Amino acid sequence: MKVVRVVGYNQNLQLDEAPEPKVTSPLDVIVKIGAAGVCRTDIHILEGQWAEKSGVKLPYTIGHENAGWIHALGDAVTNLTVGDKVILHPLVTCGLCRACRSGDDVHCEASQFPGIDSDGGYAEYLKTTARSVIKLDPSLEPADVAALADAGLTAYHAVAKAAKLLRPGEWVVMIGAGGLGHIGIQVLKAISPASLIVIDQNADALALAKQLGADHTIQPSKDEAFVKQVLDLTGGKGAEAVIDFVAEGGSTATGVKMVRRAGNYYVVGYGENINIPTIDIISTEINFVGNLVGSYNDLAELMVLAAQGKVKLHTSKYKLEDFQKAIDDLGAGKVRGRAILVP
Ligand SMILES: [Zn+2]
Ligand SMILES: [Zn+2]
Repeated sequence: MKVVRVVGYNQNLQLDEAPEPKVTSPLDVIVKIGAAGVCRTDIHILEGQWAEKSGVKLPYTIGHENAGWIHALGDAVTNLTVGDKVILHPLVTCGLCRACRSGDDVHCEASQFPGIDSDGGYAEYLKTTARSVIKLDPSLEPADVAALADAGLTAYHAVAKAAKLLRPGEWVVMIGAGGLGHIGIQVLKAISPASLIVIDQNADALALAKQLGADHTIQPSKDEAFVKQVLDLTGGKGAEAVIDFVAEGGSTATGVKMVRRAGNYYVVGYGENINIPTIDIISTEINFVGNLVGSYNDLAELMVLAAQGKVKLHTSKYKLEDFQKAIDDLGAGKVRGRAILVP
């Protein structure tokens, strides 16, 4: 089968031939890839940023946002049939550890991450296990949802965590209305009665945010006047939840000024340090909450919203062979929505 592999760091990906994956254990599932999302993490992998953390041996096949059709099943898999349309939770988990038993898949003590530390979905077929497979509603196609397997799941996880605590009349600020943010807006509007303020540098992103249901949008200025705008909108108190999809360029230091007393600051984007005086943390009792991908149940819930038409993803399709163009377009900021590779 065709695969697109990392053959060296700071080198281009390479199209190769490789043997198809085979069922070797009773819970194995082989998926015929329908679409694989092209993610900024793929660029970071090529730059070598994950080399040490993942410990992956080269060459290997990347692609961690995968959906397709069931191709082959191990003996013990009773809930799936060849031909089923499916999306894959990005991790392959053990099902036996404490985290798995509490449904907290991301913190599994014996997990693999196809596309990051083992062979992924820039290929015709991918091997996973029954634990990672979610059947799609008949109205959804693999290409419509593949990119929700990571970016969408991450946005869903953070927003759903915030939404558990949000009541009518309370406020949420989202920083960033790009790839993750535009999913986050749709999710919040679908599952929470809270009012939403979206902040982004880009006027087009804000126009989309408004269209997707944001109650207020703000284009930030250098002098932090937007902080006052948020405080004015929230009766001087600040928002119950700030969800930071960016966390770069000083967004946390200003973002935290928009959190109300005892409110929550959800960190989703990463890249900068949080530098907040500890006295401000104890005197206001604000909380900083980390967010890493999402659980199997998070992804299953997100697929319900997708099937209900409440979460839509804009995608640009590329053929698997055109992987280099997809990566280049993503690097140059030329992709509308999310790029996907279709074998
Ligand atoms: Zn990704
Ligand atoms: Zn586990």
